[in-house]
Amino acid sequence: MADYDYDVLVIGAGPGGYVAAIRAAQLGLKTACAEGRETLGGTCLNVGCIPSKAMLHASEYFEAAAGGAMAAMGIKVKPELDLGAMHGQRIDAVKGLTGGIEYLFKKNKVDWLKGYAQFASKDTVEVAGKAYRAKNIIIATGSSVTPLPGVEVDNDKQIIVDSTGALELAKVPAHMVVIGGGVIGLELGSVWRRLGAKVTVVEFLDQILPGMDGDVRKEANKIFKKQGMDFKLKTKVTSATVKGKKAVLTLEPAAGGDAETLEADVVLVSIGRRPNTDGLALDKAGIAVNQRGQIETDHDFSTQVPGIWAIGDVIPGPMLAHKAEDEGIACAENIAGLTGIVNHDVIPSVVYTWPEIAGVGLTEEQAKEKGEVKVGKFPMLANSRAKTNHEPDGFVKVIADAKSDRVLGVWCIASVAGTMIAQAAQAMEFGATSEDIAYTCHAHPTHSEAIKEAAMAVTGKPIHI
Ligand code: FAD
Ligand code: NAD
Repeated sequence: MADYDYDVLVIGAGPGGYVAAIRAAQLGLKTACAEGRETLGGTCLNVGCIPSKAMLHASEYFEAAAGGAMAAMGIKVKPELDLGAMHGQRIDAVKGLTGGIEYLFKKNKVDWLKGYAQFASKDTVEVAGKAYRAKNIIIATGSSVTPLPGVEVDNDKQIIVDSTGALELAKVPAHMVVIGGGVIGLELGSVWRRLGAKVTVVEFLDQILPGMDGDVRKEANKIFKKQGMDFKLKTKVTSATVKGKKAVLTLEPAAGGDAETLEADVVLVSIGRRPNTDGLALDKAGIAVNQRGQIETDHDFSTQVPGIWAIGDVIPGPMLAHKAEDEGIACAENIAGLTGIVNHDVIPSVVYTWPEIAGVGLTEEQAKEKGEVKVGKFPMLANSRAKTNHEPDGFVKVIADAKSDRVLGVWCIASVAGTMIAQAAQAMEFGATSEDIAYTCHAHPTHSEAIKEAAMAVTGKPIHI
């Protein structure tokens, strides 16, 4: 250790990096974490998961009051929007949680090196003009918004914005155009629609939410349309120009054809995110990136250079906070000589709209490519709790191997799908069959009973439909 400043130096304090640093320190390793932002927690806590959920949660209440959902239960209210206060509670949530990570660093004796790090060699990085030598370096630099040529984001002007700008709009736009019908577009589009904006989603593909189960994508599209969102599928945006206080977009069919124009008060660019590797001087460490700009690792998160590891959004796989966190723990455990494993086949994903959309494992399309499957479906309309709560939209779908009955994937659209999916992930992690889920006693009346019934439907025997 004499030659080294640290056993482990983590670059980036997002959910991948800060969790890796804390676990490494818990395992007795001398640990530092370099972070250039003014607060810890990365994209997730500062401008991602947490502030978006703060706005989703608050706007959900606003819509429930304004849109009549409360009236259906005998509660008559006329809500008034105080957008400043809504933003205030978002800022408070971020402040509390990012400050919490600073406290955890102190508690676990993780040194925060303030500044952006770059490699000086395979085992040395420079932060704010100072060099630090470490036995192990973990790259956890995360991702940033993918730019769209011809559509220049300027979050300060609040006309053409990315997700960070869309979280902070000072007033509700009359018309918001969302470019990209993925997770960010639908979540943040939902926030502003609930608060009064007309929202048009322009999506390049023939359906929203690529990567999710086909039935789920179709049903979600129907539900969002019913809520008042407009969709222009199979359409690409070729340019957006600011004219005064508005933006004018040029759209073309994805397959080519006549262009049309569309006017918007706010344009949200949400066409994906790309890994952060610029500025790291990776060449000095001898690390190359793949065609998508990601750093490739082995199953244990080691890169091609011994002693350098990588986790989270900067490596291949879904860009999700919980995936980054689990990789952070596994990577630190591997560095400490333990066996850290992440089962990448069982990573749940959740879209926090209303209703929520969640899935884990294979889609029906992917499962059918691998072999014969049995599928059980159960509508939320037939679930007593969802029906009683006036939440009829959605369904649960369980996909099982036709021969072994092992569960290959579970998909839900339900008000609390994000909470429901945890039991499916746990069951799959334990190698459950659909019968195992069907014969597990579920509390009544809960939305989760729909998972049990969908599992029963795999063999054709649900009770309540
Ligand atoms: P990041 O969180 O991106 O953190 C990387 C950190 O590294 C950053 O703080 C950056 O400043 C720092 N950094 C970069 N380069 C350097 C350097 N050279 N030196 C020092 N520091 C550096 N995921 C979910 O699972 N659930 C959600 O609900 C969800 N909602 C989201 C909502 C939005 C609007 C966005 C944008 C993303 C959302 N995500 C969500 C995705 C999630 O935020 C990411 O998957 C997650 O943050 C990735 O974690 P990470 O640690 O790999 O990287
Ligand atoms: P995404 O990949 O989810 O969706 C991008 C969408 O844009 C796709 O549907 C794609 O077909 C479309 N698209 C691409 N180019 C286009 C173009 N030129 N014109 C029109 N449409 C175009 O990306 P995102 O929504 O930006 O989110 C980025 C990442 O952040 C995702 O990987 C996601 O996992 C993560 N995230 C997760 C959550 C969550 O877990 N709830 C929330 C927000 C973000």
